[in-house]
Amino acid sequence: MNRGRIYISDEVKIMTQEQGFTIGVDLGGTNLRIAAYTRDAGLLDTILLPTRLAAGCEAVVEDMCGAIIALKDRFDSQYELAGIGVGTPGPLELPAGRLHNPPNLPGWDGFDLRCALEKKLQQTVIVESDANLAALAECVLGRGRTMGVDSLCMLTLGTGVGNGIILGGKIFAGAAGMAGEAGHATIYPDGPLCPCGNHGCLEMYASATAVVRTASQRIAAGLAPALGGKTWSARTLAEAAFAGNPDAKQIYTDAGRALGIGLATLVNTLQLPLYVVGGGLVQAWELLKPAIFEELHHRSYVWRLVEPNSALARHNPRGTTHVLPAELGPDAGLLGACILPFTANGQSSSKS
Ligand SMILES: [Zn+2]
Repeated sequence: MNRGRIYISDEVKIMTQEQGFTIGVDLGGTNLRIAAYTRDAGLLDTILLPTRLAAGCEAVVEDMCGAIIALKDRFDSQYELAGIGVGTPGPLELPAGRLHNPPNLPGWDGFDLRCALEKKLQQTVIVESDANLAALAECVLGRGRTMGVDSLCMLTLGTGVGNGIILGGKIFAGAAGMAGEAGHATIYPDGPLCPCGNHGCLEMYASATAVVRTASQRIAAGLAPALGGKTWSARTLAEAAFAGNPDAKQIYTDAGRALGIGLATLVNTLQLPLYVVGGGLVQAWELLKPAIFEELHHRSYVWRLVEPNSALARHNPRGTTHVLPAELGPDAGLLGACILPFTANGQSSSKS
């Protein structure tokens, strides 16, 4: 654990006492991360635990609450606790904070996560979907801040494709908390069956899982001779593509094409100032980029009007739409949970 930042100057301490500290939780299918945070000092301390899925949801809640209480005890003599934010894989019903058959948390269907946490902690907890929180962090602390905008749409390319929409600095969660599922937008109607029940979702082409699956299918079908017979990960495929392997490159081009098709619809629908692509696969941004922009240009007349360097963008820079890689790395979801209490429109941020 990093305790180094506890020892801050008196001047900073006075400022942060006014603003308080928050505790954020990033609940993942493998790991549980709990952090204490202030706006001025950032992450004060982080606790990392395995997610004991086999022990059941109550045991995981027990672990979460134990870590939250430990951080609260450690910092509440220095700062006032401003709130607790929890990010979870979805689908998550808000404001109830109830999970609905989450693919990454098997056995948690119907679990009232917010109620279970509040009962144990005896205080208010704000629960949000992890992809919404990554988008919030990217907006407030990452690319949104760099670009000077308070609205964005983010696609997170990881095991699946997460999505979050931030409007005016707040999460747009939809009527029941389930907005921001563009990872399940149909890209190719006759494509492979997605765990969500639809065929040809964006997630089936542009996630880390998807590029690995595509590689093994093409190898098995004899369509990727340059990949040989070995087993590939998203990272080794990207390395091979950067080194010039044509079959690895093609896999990333195809993923970029699916992303471009999805982004064209999102730009046509919302024309936000910023669309951000994040998650582990974005390390291959330079491989994805050409096909993304080719599809955007081809399929979205809105994009052609408002893209950087368009005639409109030259006379109305604030009206421009940008599509850029995320700035924050794997901490985005945890940071989003930490800043949620500072930005929440109450449990739960359904709509302002
Ligand atoms: Zn799907």
